[in-house]
Amino acid sequence: MSSLLADVKQFLRPSDSELYECRRCGTILDKAADKCPSCGFEDIARYEF
Ligand SMILES: [Zn+2]
Repeated sequence: MSSLLADVKQFLRPSDSELYECRRCGTILDKAADKCPSCGFEDIARYEF
């Protein structure tokens, strides 16, 4: 049952513990992206909580 611990960790630290913000227009993304979906800028800042 070695996967149980990983499942618990996933539950305790959900994927929304980080966010991404376009450095040009400030659009907030809820997941990683190669470029901003709003303006197409390719420099996305990543933040962790
Ligand atoms: Zn942008």
